[in-house]
Amino acid sequence: MENTKEFRTWLDDMQLDHPLVIAGPCSAETEEQVLKIAHELKNTDATVFRAGVWKPRTRPGGFEGIGAIALPWLQRVKKETGMLIAVEVANLAHVKLALAADIDILWLGARTTVNPFAVQEIADALNGTDKIVLVKNPINPDLALWLGGVERLHTANIKKLGVIHRGFSSYKKTKYRNVPQWQLPIALKQKFPDLPIINDPSHICGNRTGIQEISQIALDLNFEGLMIETHITPDEAWSDAAQQITPARLVEIMEDLKVREPKAEGETLDQLTGLRAEIDVIDNHILDTLSERMKVVDQIGVIKKSENISILQDDRWAAILASVKKEGVVRGLSEAFVESVFKSIHQESINHQKTIVNEK
Ligand code: PEP
Ligand code: MN
Repeated sequence: MENTKEFRTWLDDMQLDHPLVIAGPCSAETEEQVLKIAHELKNTDATVFRAGVWKPRTRPGGFEGIGAIALPWLQRVKKETGMLIAVEVANLAHVKLALAADIDILWLGARTTVNPFAVQEIADALNGTDKIVLVKNPINPDLALWLGGVERLHTANIKKLGVIHRGFSSYKKTKYRNVPQWQLPIALKQKFPDLPIINDPSHICGNRTGIQEISQIALDLNFEGLMIETHITPDEAWSDAAQQITPARLVEIMEDLKVREPKAEGETLDQLTGLRAEIDVIDNHILDTLSERMKVVDQIGVIKKSENISILQDDRWAAILASVKKEGVVRGLSEAFVESVFKSIHQESINHQKTIVNEK
């Protein structure tokens, strides 16, 4: 993908003086619900109204979307509020219906991005149109798969492109519904700086309380926008009730978010602030990883205690040290540095196991 500058023309053309805000319900439910939400969003920072019409649900039996009957409701939203309208499309039939209803923005959901056949089918159906298309990250943390989706659309002559970061599925239970794994959107931004990235704190958090914090991190990392699920009566929503917020709460969040002004004389400072935000995220990853390591160390400690095995295993430690020094060099880290870091980690591991083995 060359000439990625043209990816973002659609966003530049909006001439916004704040990050792009895409808001609206997880799902369109009734015409009344859609229009009520839209009219409340009309006087907020939201430029784009989102609503799921076809809903990919993990298990059958849940609400799978109201279907194409909602498309005229969205047309009313556009006419009455002036907002652009966005829906998720997952197959050829959805694209045809969305095009016929003149939907402005189509997005590919996380479960679609994982499937190159589906992405290709959608890309082919959109070839020759002028639509804005946003690609959500795949559910698994695979940057190539995410970019592959963008490439398929680009190859099909879709020029107005962007991506949505909605976090990644994890087998482990975490405080997130979908773990942000910020290093992936950061890597994507480094590779394609002109490809707009929109953060979706709603699907990352899975609750209302974390939305502000995640949105702020995204803005600190220079994301171009936010997609936030918004409902008139969130508790009664037919899907994703726990994470939707009211339009009034959206206004509060937007007021509290700090958007850095890209001042000319402060350009260097802006650059530094962006990089420092990246460092903060990476440091948190280091801490998470160290804490995970210690949990495994503790499990080994329990086995050593029950089998009465000594804590320090000389040959194992020598093998670890040799291996990490070698791996470190490959990653541009000096042997001396890796050795000192791992000596500390090893010492902390021994301290942990000492406590466990000597527990009465
Ligand atoms: C959605 O935006 O409502 C949705 C289904 O999101 P995702 O594809 O990120 O799960
Ligand atoms: Mn949702």
